[in-house]
Amino acid sequence: MIQSAREWLEKDRRYVWHAMSGYPSGASTLVIEQGDGAWITDIEGNRYLDGMSGLWCVNVGYGREELARAAYEQLVKMPFYPLTRGHLPAIELGEKLNEWLAGEYAFFYSNSGSEANEIAFKVARQFHQQNGEPERWKFVSRYRAYHGQTMGALAATGQAQRKYRYEPLAPGFLHVPPPDSYRRPDELDPEAYGRECARDIERLIQWELPETVAAVILEPIITGGGILIPPDNYLPAVKEICERYGVLLIVDEVICGFGRIGTRFGHQSYGIEPDIVTMAKGITSAYSPLSATAVSQRIYEAFAGSGEYERLRHVNTFGGHPASCAVAIRNMQIMEDEELPERSAELGERLLKDLSELGEHPQVGDVRGKGLLVGIELVSEKQSKRPASPQTVAAFVSGCQKRGLIVGKNGDTAAGYNNVVTLAPPLSLTEGDLEFIGETLK
Ligand code: PLP
Repeated sequence: MIQSAREWLEKDRRYVWHAMSGYPSGASTLVIEQGDGAWITDIEGNRYLDGMSGLWCVNVGYGREELARAAYEQLVKMPFYPLTRGHLPAIELGEKLNEWLAGEYAFFYSNSGSEANEIAFKVARQFHQQNGEPERWKFVSRYRAYHGQTMGALAATGQAQRKYRYEPLAPGFLHVPPPDSYRRPDELDPEAYGRECARDIERLIQWELPETVAAVILEPIITGGGILIPPDNYLPAVKEICERYGVLLIVDEVICGFGRIGTRFGHQSYGIEPDIVTMAKGITSAYSPLSATAVSQRIYEAFAGSGEYERLRHVNTFGGHPASCAVAIRNMQIMEDEELPERSAELGERLLKDLSELGEHPQVGDVRGKGLLVGIELVSEKQSKRPASPQTVAAFVSGCQKRGLIVGKNGDTAAGYNNVVTLAPPLSLTEGDLEFIGETLK
């Protein structure tokens, strides 16, 4: 039976509870049927350039048959075995990820970015216990950070509106302000500001007693919180503080990884080596669910004891699914063959240059980006940098959609900063696509 678009939309309203939504009030949504390159098509035949790669994740673009084939071939050969034992795609993927990380990590696989972070928290706490420092249980994060929706990951998230009505969450998660380079105080140059923001983390560790702090978690660039690009010296300074106080550094690469900001992993742009790296989204370009928690050998080795409680007592059924691992390996191969991280750096620079003239508009406070990750901060007044009203931002976003471009809207509602229009298009987008983005935004 062929159903009309109207019938599908009506069933969508009745049967599908959409993310970040309540009972539908009547506003219809997009129901997407097809994708090709950087473009998606809805059930009414409208085409859009997906300037958000789905949810910051379809890094190699839509319609990659070789990824479907990789999943198919693996499913035919061996569809599933749990990682309480082993299978070849998980091993191969670990080896490839280490090539990309230029390190020697062990990988605990799971299904989402939130879960990868939960595992990082468990590993960090247990590591310290087994390393003779059982009092280290607290985590330091930043306001405006987003680390996921499960209870620990949401506790690590620094956006109050996401937690409201779901608290109390996991205890022990503490927050400091993030670097917000657009609002950097005039008296500080970027380097001094980077040092000062890192000092916020140090001060918190000192106030809390360093011997109670397990880890700092951060994204290289805060993404969902509004594309907050830190000064270049910030991450190295945080890493140095972590080392000084025996605190682990967990880097959340769920968005910044897999070429998004112009390097294979985001932290490589800042020259640091994390203790734990969490990743999801771009690992398979979202062709199949997968995430991973990469743990340095030093930490992994602390789990060598044979006692009942010395193992990591974590298990999930689908984590490291063979088909997802096979897709991830192929996905990374595509990124290497097409030099997508390098392309992200190059095209990102061109896009930023093209968009710089937007800054002349009285309601555009800042246009910033790194690789193919761009934020356009809308303000109601340039002098005070007061955020634009939610209506203005919504009108901008829907104006883009009407012209065939999907963009995101991010920031932090609770603090009144949900005023950043975001772009994270597929890294494989064409030059024509890039021009279309620039022209539509202007
Ligand atoms: N960490 C970051 C930085 C994210 O942006 C996200 C999701 O957007 C997550 C973690 C959570 O990932 P997931 O939605 O796969 O649970």
